[in-house]
Amino acid sequence: MPHRPDPAELQTVLDDIATRMAGEAERGEVASYIPELARVPLNRFGMAVAPLDGPPIIAGDAEVPFSIQSISKVFALVAALGHVGASLWRRVGREPSGDPFNSIVQLEAERGKPRNPFINPGAIVVSDVILENQPDETTQHPVLDLCQRLADAPDIAVDEDVFASEVATGDRNRALAYFMLAEGNIRGDVTEVTESYFRQCSIEMSCLQLATATRFLATEGEGPDAEIAGVTPERVRRLNALMMTCGCYDASGEVAFRIGLPCKSGVGGGLVAIVPGVGAIAAWSPGLDKKGNSVLAIKAIEELAHRLNWSVF
Ligand code: GLN
Repeated sequence: MPHRPDPAELQTVLDDIATRMAGEAERGEVASYIPELARVPLNRFGMAVAPLDGPPIIAGDAEVPFSIQSISKVFALVAALGHVGASLWRRVGREPSGDPFNSIVQLEAERGKPRNPFINPGAIVVSDVILENQPDETTQHPVLDLCQRLADAPDIAVDEDVFASEVATGDRNRALAYFMLAEGNIRGDVTEVTESYFRQCSIEMSCLQLATATRFLATEGEGPDAEIAGVTPERVRRLNALMMTCGCYDASGEVAFRIGLPCKSGVGGGLVAIVPGVGAIAAWSPGLDKKGNSVLAIKAIEELAHRLNWSVF
């Protein structure tokens, strides 16, 4: 059974982990292929837990906003499923890719149907679906809107400098989108679709906000958070299954092995993990390993999950 610590015990564990992460020498490297991300100091570390039955607990830089990047793919998937339901799976698969998140090789072999919604081409199809179903540009970005409502934080915003940096250097993502257009799996305008995708990746949130915004995934699909997300119990189970198998790109197996929880990472250095029935965890440290996952966020959540017996296995 997962341990359910009281707030004081959880605070002690988080503070202890944050202190030890501050002393870690091996921190990976900050992403530089999106130049604006390379400006974030390597020495940052934050962590937050949003339990289902108590106040959020934070440690380190847990209230510092950072670029959520691919973590936005979870919120985007929730929005797209809300629009088109299971018909989404005709255009996006549900298998781990085993390839880097921006790889084009598999996409060609599989005729433009991305393996899953958490690699870039899958998320670009998801953006296309959202635009098709919610084209009104007078409203704010639907993924931003969902993040604000789930975190109960209307000040969450897009970092316009990161957005501009992604647009300027996004040729590989545009190539993925054009390839899928050629295969009939993108219906909108490639520039518009990719810009919508870049915009959601450029949303800035803190660990505290991310843990709060993903807490609905720890419920059984009921309650106020799940209602905001518009999810059913079955959808929550399936989102968790996808996070477990595909949430950390081609390191998803390794992360499941080490942490044993549904996770989603981003190249901004964020990592969220869901403890079913208990709550959501978010950790952030901008240094990445070779596969684009945060070295210290993985380490910290691994340690937390071990200490509190939170692995689902
Ligand atoms: N915006 C990034 C990209 O498209 C997101 C990638 C990531 O976090 N893995 O390359």
